[in-house]
Amino acid sequence: MAYKITETCTACGTCFETCPSEAIVKGDARYSITPDKCIDCAACEASCPSKSIVQG
Ligand code: SF4
Ligand code: SF4
Repeated sequence: MAYKITETCTACGTCFETCPSEAIVKGDARYSITPDKCIDCAACEASCPSKSIVQG
């Protein structure tokens, strides 16, 4: 099950730098995760300062 980014994302960019498989996509208001690329490593979940990344 891939991780997903919720609506509390502030687009800070921290998770983007953390992901080892380029699964996180930048957005203006919110970032998102491409499920097919996510390898479920959980690194982004721990990195998010607003706890906006949850297991989907
Ligand atoms: S769980 Fe790992 S692979 Fe999936 S989006 Fe987060 S950092 Fe990237
Ligand atoms: S670290 Fe959290 S708040 Fe920052 S871009 Fe990623 S999901 Fe959004």
